[in-house]
Amino acid sequence: MSSPSLALDAIGHAVMADLRGPAQAIPLQICAETGSTNADLLSAEAWPQHPALVLLALVQTQGRGRSGRQWLSDGGSLTFSVRWPFSRSTSQLLGLPLAVAVAVVQGLEDLSVAGLSIKWPNDLLRRGRKVGGILVELSGQSAVIGIGLNIALDAVLAASLDQMAADVQPMQGPAIQRETVLAAILNRLVPALSVFNAEGFGAFQSDWATRAAWLGRAVRLGPAGSEVAQGTLCGVDAHGALLLEQQGRVSRYLVGDLSLRPIHDPAAESD
Ligand code: ATP
Repeated sequence: MSSPSLALDAIGHAVMADLRGPAQAIPLQICAETGSTNADLLSAEAWPQHPALVLLALVQTQGRGRSGRQWLSDGGSLTFSVRWPFSRSTSQLLGLPLAVAVAVVQGLEDLSVAGLSIKWPNDLLRRGRKVGGILVELSGQSAVIGIGLNIALDAVLAASLDQMAADVQPMQGPAIQRETVLAAILNRLVPALSVFNAEGFGAFQSDWATRAAWLGRAVRLGPAGSEVAQGTLCGVDAHGALLLEQQGRVSRYLVGDLSLRPIHDPAAESD
C-alpha cells in the first residue's frame, strides 16, 4: 500500500508534468487536508523563503467566500491558493480578482471547457450556474489568491448549496482531472500576475468584457436582501469598477459587499 506522502508526490508530479513557461518556476506545496489554503498562506510562518508560492489542498474544510460566506468543497473539488508579491498599492489591486477570473477562465478554455462566464466581481459561472469562486486577501505587499472550483460536483454537495452550481466536466468524453485543471490554470495565472503587477487591470479589461455574465442585460446590484442600483451592465472600467447604465447615465460601483444578479434568472439558459 502506498503512503499518503507518496500519493501527494504523485499528484505533484502530475501537475508539474503539465506546467509550462513561468508556471514551472513557482514552488508547489500540497497538503492532504487543511481548513483554508488562504488562511495558511496568510500566515507569516508559511514558507517565508518563498514569496511566491502555490498551496493545493486535496480537502479544504473551512473554505471562505466574501463577507464571511463559505466555499464548500469535497474530494471532487479543486481548492488552492497562490501567494504573490505585488509592488502596487492596495487601491491599484482592486481589479486583481477580475484579472484572476480572466486567467482561470482562459485556463479552462485551454481544456475546452465551454459555457463559462465571469460574474463581477469574483465568481465563475458555467451556463449561468456557479462553478468557482475567487477570494483575494492582502497581507503586506503580498496578495493571497484563493480559488475554489467544482471539478466533479457531487449531488450531496450540490444539494447543500443555497444557489445552483455546476462543474467543469464535459457532457461527453473523458473526465477532466483536478491535476490537469490546476496546471492549465497556473499556466495562465502565473504570467497574468506578472502582467497585472506591471500594467494593472487595464491589460485585462477587454478579455474580461468578452466573458462577462449579463453584459448588456438588466441587472441589480446590492447586498443580499437589498438593492443599491438597477441598470444595464456596461462592463468594468480600467480599475475593475462595475459600470451600470441607468437612464442614459453610466455610474461606477466599487467592490464592497455588493452582489450582482440578473433581473431575469439565466440558470435555465445553455451556451
Ligand atoms: P457574490 O460574490 O455575487 O456576492 P455569492 O453569493 O456567490 O456571490 P461569494 O462570497 O462569492 O458569494 O461565495 C460564497 C457563496 O458561494 C456561498 O454562500 C454559496 O452560495 C456558494 N457556494 C459555496 N460553495 C460552493 C460550491 N462548491 N459551488 C458553487 N457555489 C458554492
